[in-house]
Amino acid sequence: MHELAHAEAHDMQQRRGEDYKESGWWDEEVEVFAFEHELMAKLGGESYEVYVNEQLEQFLAKYNDSGVATTGATIPQLTDDDRIEDVFGPSLSEWERKIRKTAVWFDVVYRMFDRKYGEHSQRDKRGFTKLVYDLNRKDREIEN
Ligand SMILES: [Zn+2]
Repeated sequence: MHELAHAEAHDMQQRRGEDYKESGWWDEEVEVFAFEHELMAKLGGESYEVYVNEQLEQFLAKYNDSGVATTGATIPQLTDDDRIEDVFGPSLSEWERKIRKTAVWFDVVYRMFDRKYGEHSQRDKRGFTKLVYDLNRKDREIEN
């Protein structure tokens, strides 16, 4: 789904301007995640909203954005994440469990930015998404 949404964006020639690598690519990434989150909310229904909203309130209480957000150090983590399994049914692998958790985490973080920064939240969603991708890349480089 995620990659199909990218393919569609490519097909429609969206966000392929001069700044594509610096910001257009990341704006597209944020849009694709937002699409994923919509699907998750539809699939998870009421119990998903309840879980995500509880987490959102905790994130808002814990999040400290005093200039260090770009290090990722202050982005809160999900608690009680076994409940994701109750919402969507049991994962079929440890890998699926991990992917689900990351997807829900992204959803809560994006909602947190929406609540905190309103119309300016795109900047932080883009920065956060880029940061997570960069950190994953570094992890992989260390593993290899
Ligand atoms: Zn992507």
